[in-house]
Amino acid sequence: MSRLVKIGNKVIGNNNPIMIQSMTNTKTEDSIETINQIKRLETAGCDIVRFSVYNQDCVKSIEKIKENTHIPLVADIHFDYKLAIESAYAGIDKIRINPGNIGSEENVKKVVDVCREKNIPIRIGVNGGSLDKDILEKYKSPTPEALVESAFKHINILHKFDFDNIVVSIKSSNVVNMINAYSLFAEKSDIPLHLGVTETGNINSGLIKSAIGIGNLLLNGIGDTMRVSLTSDPVDEIYAAKDILKACGLRNDGIEIVSCPTCGRCNIDLINTVNEVYDKLKNCEKDIKIAIMGCAVNGPGEAREAEIGIAGGKGEGILFKKGEIIRKIPGDKLVECLIDEVNKM
Ligand code: SF4
Repeated sequence: MSRLVKIGNKVIGNNNPIMIQSMTNTKTEDSIETINQIKRLETAGCDIVRFSVYNQDCVKSIEKIKENTHIPLVADIHFDYKLAIESAYAGIDKIRINPGNIGSEENVKKVVDVCREKNIPIRIGVNGGSLDKDILEKYKSPTPEALVESAFKHINILHKFDFDNIVVSIKSSNVVNMINAYSLFAEKSDIPLHLGVTETGNINSGLIKSAIGIGNLLLNGIGDTMRVSLTSDPVDEIYAAKDILKACGLRNDGIEIVSCPTCGRCNIDLINTVNEVYDKLKNCEKDIKIAIMGCAVNGPGEAREAEIGIAGGKGEGILFKKGEIIRKIPGDKLVECLIDEVNKM
């Protein structure tokens, strides 16, 4: 069981719900664009958001972003300990920085001191693609053992200064290595884990790699917060994360759509119908399973476990509940009728 860590008004660890994170891809110094993107992420269900802080102008944005958004903010900082300190004073809720990469221990102590004063956790983010040279030389490649050793190297630096308000991520683009590294770490430590597969490729491969990597760990009780990294609009990461959590049985709010793969019996444009319903209901918080099936002959029976569903017929379709046909619907009113029924539930 992982220990508790507080990030702004959210708590991760132990049996708390898995928090969904994303990262903005706007220029952080453009506070208006960044605020707008964070608001879209909030609406989609993002719990915690990270943005890069790479210069003084980014630090200046923090206060404005904080004033205009509602979820905890994480500053992603590479190498520059001064930016970490300034971000902490500007009101950031968490800092992602690797203490082994910010120079002297004196610098680390300065960061730790301000994080302690402000009760700000530090996330150590180990990444297979940027493993410390000495560890890479020892293991020859970013093996799970190498990734875990790197995480402990950074953790021990913080422990030297008696700082234990830590979250760890051990990301890799290799899904098997990622799963094994997180599992190995979880055997050795109760520090909360931020799960993620990194550099995942296009959206399809990103979804598959993240679902396998993150899903596998979650099903084994490992992980406290997660980010699905996608080369896409960050908002897509939130819906993907919600789907992974739902598929793992760790979340039951929100619509679940079941639909058939279609076959020669299909009587409607099922692909577009499913996409349209998904789009219209993706922010609905009701725990309802909806079936969208290609034909009225087999559809209702095949989707018996869904609370409500539609199935296509020639020129008209049917509305069914728990496999029982309720009524016929004109073919062009299928989606409209389904949405109306869901809104009434
Ligand atoms: Fe084919 Fe109908 Fe089954 Fe869809 S529901 S796969 S269209 S038989």
